[in-house]
Amino acid sequence: MNYSRRRQKAVDLLTQLKLDALVLCHPENIRYLCGFTGSDGALIVSKEQLVFLTDSRYTTQARSEVVADKIDEYRVKGDGVIAVLTSLVVERIGFEVSLAVGVFNDLRDKGSSGWVWQHLHDEIQSLRLRKSADEIQLISTAAGLNLAGFTEIRPMLRPGVRETEISLALEFAMRKLGAEEKAFDIIVASGERGAMPHGVASDKLLAEGELVTIDFGCRCAGYHSDETVTLAVGDVSDELRRIYDTVLEAHDRALAAVAPGIALSELDRIARDYISTCGYAEYFGHGLGHGIGLEVHEGPVVSSRSKAVADVGMVFTVEPGIYVPGVGGVRIEDMVLVTAEGHRVLTKIPKTFQNILLR
Ligand code: ZN
Ligand code: ZN
Repeated sequence: MNYSRRRQKAVDLLTQLKLDALVLCHPENIRYLCGFTGSDGALIVSKEQLVFLTDSRYTTQARSEVVADKIDEYRVKGDGVIAVLTSLVVERIGFEVSLAVGVFNDLRDKGSSGWVWQHLHDEIQSLRLRKSADEIQLISTAAGLNLAGFTEIRPMLRPGVRETEISLALEFAMRKLGAEEKAFDIIVASGERGAMPHGVASDKLLAEGELVTIDFGCRCAGYHSDETVTLAVGDVSDELRRIYDTVLEAHDRALAAVAPGIALSELDRIARDYISTCGYAEYFGHGLGHGIGLEVHEGPVVSSRSKAVADVGMVFTVEPGIYVPGVGGVRIEDMVLVTAEGHRVLTKIPKTFQNILLR
């Protein structure tokens, strides 16, 4: 990872926001800027210095991982941060909204009365919006493990198998193949449970005539994959097939439109309009997608409220769904990279309609 380039982006942000220092506590932002993979610490960035602070549990780990000018240990986080800010001689300080209230109160109450504090959130997130080649490589590797893991467990997808057996086998397969960890609790939702967009695997058995939605991903060197397949367990009703075809077409249309310059709200609109035309508007309740990288859900938001525009290097999901209570549901999800030429789909599992009993 090119930490000097990332540091330069943070320094440019300081200039842009007319700030003297940033105080970061969000683990993924810290990891992005200095390589620390632990869960607790603080990173202070000024134009001249990058200082990482943590407590005694993490000092040894930090010394082997962190790329910074200085690594220090604190007993109380607020006191440690104040000491660094004092030594840097700063006035205007940006801090993340995720900074614990107790720590912020410490900084404000015990720090210099001359310090001016500015809340930041989107500004810091924006540092991670456009992925570098090495980040794209890791996300692609994680996507490749999705395909390999899914291919391995696909033969077990049969009527009578329990949803939890599927999620467990999929997690095991991905980890055995080299994934660091599953990206999130794997969703396996079959039959009427498919109408729950976030139905984690249950005791329910797959049954013939149902659809099953499997939403899963893994993590490689901190970077995540996220993909959803919906499969038919034998022949399904005309209505379920119509729902599948509608979601697939909405997914394909939105994906085809991904290119630099398109508003992300427009991608959401393309998928939503098609679903509405087919009469399912009220059954597509969530946004079209989300950015992904060091976190499963990060910027940019891809929804009707999104203000962002697709830019080269962004990686986000396209995942329309239709969820009809009492009937079932379909979601189809891929991860896409915005490229200068348009886009590249990073996930690899084919999304054409598949009846798993026909193979
Ligand atoms: Zn997903
Ligand atoms: Zn997703």
